[in-house]
Amino acid sequence: MTTISKNDQLFERAQKTTPGGVNSPVRAFRSVGGTPRFITRAEGPYFWDADGKRYIDYIGSWGPAIVGHAHPEVVKAVQEAATRGLSFGAPTEGEIEMAEEIVRLVPSLEQVRLVSSGTEATMSALRLARGATGRDKIVKFEGCYHGHADSLLVKAGSGLLTFGNPTSAGVPEDFVKHTLVLDYNNVQQIEEAFANFGDEIACVIVEPVAGNMNLIKASVPFLQALRELCTKHGALLIFDEVMCGFRVALGGAQELYGIKPDLTALGKVIGGGLPVAAFGGSTALMSKMSPVGAVYQAGTLSGNPVAVAAGMTTLKLIQQPGFYDQLSASAARLAAGLTAAAKEAHVAFCADSVGGMFGLYFSVTPPNNYAEMMAGDRERFNKFFHAMLDEGVYFAPAAFEAGFVSIQHSDEVIDETIAAARRVFAKL
Ligand code: PMP
Repeated sequence: MTTISKNDQLFERAQKTTPGGVNSPVRAFRSVGGTPRFITRAEGPYFWDADGKRYIDYIGSWGPAIVGHAHPEVVKAVQEAATRGLSFGAPTEGEIEMAEEIVRLVPSLEQVRLVSSGTEATMSALRLARGATGRDKIVKFEGCYHGHADSLLVKAGSGLLTFGNPTSAGVPEDFVKHTLVLDYNNVQQIEEAFANFGDEIACVIVEPVAGNMNLIKASVPFLQALRELCTKHGALLIFDEVMCGFRVALGGAQELYGIKPDLTALGKVIGGGLPVAAFGGSTALMSKMSPVGAVYQAGTLSGNPVAVAAGMTTLKLIQQPGFYDQLSASAARLAAGLTAAAKEAHVAFCADSVGGMFGLYFSVTPPNNYAEMMAGDRERFNKFFHAMLDEGVYFAPAAFEAGFVSIQHSDEVIDETIAAARRVFAKL
């Protein structure tokens, strides 16, 4: 008699009361197949599933766990905050400290508003951009994900300069008819878009290091073109740094590239594992937000004191000397080690990293845009994913996602991963 694993039991049970058994789609392993692992606890670079198996975790809650799971100082801050009350719906000093810290660290920010998810941050930034410019049209790039607000769930239309089609049922055509979807890293297309619609475009929203079509770096000329065209045409440039903020560098991609957006969306790391996100920009722009200005936005749990305690402690920890050097070195060590292991086994594979983010590609060179990413060998990725899972290494369960290291991913942990990959590549 075969015994059914605890993960299998839980997955079966979960599907009875939760659609697909999960509370966020990618967790269901639909792309890679098989049974999702139900996590029972996590510590440092590891987590354990319901069957007691340990994994080296390379998703880090999809970004937040930059100091490692259950960091003692973060846990202590959360416990202390919790004893003082869980939520007040009235302002706290902690929120001021958090805003001051974020504004000090992120080059373009003078003011921020705290929210509870990246989706809220980008949705609100978009509303502010439209409110501030009095324009409706927005530009986004194929493969960039900015949360699930209606006007952002859109893919390219039939022609280059036709407006987009919804990527989700339930999004009215009317909501996306103002969204123009262009190719990432394509300067000519964005020039054409502004030449055609320059005085109607409220904003351009972009992941300056894309992490939702695997990892794709923006080229410097591409980001420069966005900056120049927005300025020239009175549109606002929004950097969605929900993923790459405090991840590719302390000051985010805007520090790395030396390009200042008008608005920035943040999330993930700034909550340290609890729900905190933010959007911000200049004081002049942010003064258009309610209650000072006419752009409405609010949240029952915005600036939640327990979440802010986790976030603030995380923001302190990442400012320790050498933090980003070590984080970047770990991700680079992983990328180089995996690439070398694949080469030994003659597998067409490469890997890349920026700061603490990395990409694994079953292609000869890293992709530059969505179409190139989609051309990678996904079947092979899926085999690799499952074989690594068996080896106790948890990579993102889809070929379309970036990976993350934490500061607790020591050389030993990375080398253990590379050794496992060497065994796996030999069998692929
Ligand atoms: N923007 C980016 C770049 C993201 O990666 C994500 C989430 N992965 C979001 C926005 C949405 O954030 P959340 O899931 O917290 O709503």
